[in-house]
Amino acid sequence: MPELPEVEVTRRALLQPLLGSRIRGASLGKALRWPLRCAPDELAGQRIDSLDRRGKYLLMGLQRGQLIVHLGMSGSLRWHGAGDASAAAPGPHEHFRLFTDRGELRLHDPRRFGAVIWHGHAQPPHPLLQRLGPEPLLPGFDGECLWRALHPRRVAVKLLLLDQSVVAGIGNIYACEALFLAGIDPRTPGCRISRARCARLAEALRETLEQALRAGGSTLRDFCSSDGAHGHFQLQARVYGRGGQPCRHCAAPLAHVVQGQRSTYFCRNCQTR
Ligand SMILES: [Zn+2]
Repeated sequence: MPELPEVEVTRRALLQPLLGSRIRGASLGKALRWPLRCAPDELAGQRIDSLDRRGKYLLMGLQRGQLIVHLGMSGSLRWHGAGDASAAAPGPHEHFRLFTDRGELRLHDPRRFGAVIWHGHAQPPHPLLQRLGPEPLLPGFDGECLWRALHPRRVAVKLLLLDQSVVAGIGNIYACEALFLAGIDPRTPGCRISRARCARLAEALRETLEQALRAGGSTLRDFCSSDGAHGHFQLQARVYGRGGQPCRHCAAPLAHVVQGQRSTYFCRNCQTR
């Protein structure tokens, strides 16, 4: 599932082709998680002025509003430059296409939990963006900020990290990885985590995301090439997806439990309540 680093790497890869380009039109495939909320023709003629990210959302600033793009569970964006021969044949999972004067952007999303939503400048801030918590890579995010969000809650810290109002952009993979790095058992209730451990966790989140961003930087070419079969990059996971395998720190077999219907991986030795 695309999380903050994948969305950020996608954003960086698309800056050059998209910024300043002019939209010629758009077409829709099968229904995505949310509707576009405008006729595709209404996008035509608008220039793409900015490409930002908030949490896991990509925000494409146009002259009369913005397109909010969410990659859902399995979505990825692919760019096909003008004159790219493969651009003639869209695949069965390409459910949104944006045509510009420089080429075409396609949302490839087999599970269709992703979405592209039009949001006009005249409308109040979109509810999806309004409830988002702090950006973990910006200076305002620290242990104190995390402690204030966690300490009133009895819910397990792993589930709180997935709550986008606590911190924006974290999904299952980076929640597991950061908790391992911070030495915190993912089942610990939020209210039981001290200020000092919150500071370690905030630092671990930042470190994990920055590592993933560095790994993703090397795959930029894949995002932009028409044959980029995968939209995401492989993180050198310390715990995620490694249930039963030896902990990279203490060699004990890693635990795999289910929390809120999602898999959690951790080390019973290295992570404590
Ligand atoms: Zn261990």
